[in-house]
Amino acid sequence: MRTTTMGLVLRATKTGEADRALLLLTPDGLVSAMAKGALRLKSRLFSGTGLFCYSEFTLFEGKTMFVVDEAEVRQVFWGIHESVEHMALAMYFAELASTLSPTGQEAEAQLRLLLNSLYLLSEGRRAPRLVKAVYELRAMTLAGFMPDLVACADCVKYEGGAFCFDARKGRLYCGECAAKRELECNLDPAALAAMRHIVFSGDDKLFSFSLAEHSTQLLGAVTGRWALYCVDRPLRSLDFLNTVLD
Ligand SMILES: [Zn+2]
Repeated sequence: MRTTTMGLVLRATKTGEADRALLLLTPDGLVSAMAKGALRLKSRLFSGTGLFCYSEFTLFEGKTMFVVDEAEVRQVFWGIHESVEHMALAMYFAELASTLSPTGQEAEAQLRLLLNSLYLLSEGRRAPRLVKAVYELRAMTLAGFMPDLVACADCVKYEGGAFCFDARKGRLYCGECAAKRELECNLDPAALAAMRHIVFSGDDKLFSFSLAEHSTQLLGAVTGRWALYCVDRPLRSLDFLNTVLD
């Protein structure tokens, strides 16, 4: 059977002499496919099957796997390949996306989020740390791990002063209630507002906010912990990312 789908290359591993084993994120979910001979320079599959290419794929369903028949490039995020930091971050996003393994409507939303994140990163439109925080929190929310950010879980205080986000429970506590629980505050008002924005805003507004560097650090620490708690397994790409992230 022959099918056509849009797909983002999350992984492209060399196998055999010149083949590429691909992991694609498509609007229907993850697809593993083999691109035979793709690494030969004259191969018509060469450009469309590169890491982080967004291409239109024509796939044959073989006995044990999908085989790529055509791969027509739609978007290449050149800026990602120009910096080790961007590449490390993109690899981390790809590992998160493959770990979440979305299906159905969620796959389409995760794909859109990832494409937008890679675009902003590639174009240098947003600070890498901010893109990381937005991606982590939004991807977890789409995957069904929506933290309870409406108000303090103990006293229903909405805002004012520092708050604590408890990543083991996905709950928020105000300064006073956090102190009673012997938890330390880890969010300033701007970082908390950013968290709410990332969780509740529409797709078109998702990245439309700015945040001071200190608040971005706080936000990133919290969203990173939340992502790790949700996926509940070590991520190989994260160790490398931590050594290069500015
Ligand atoms: Zn409280």
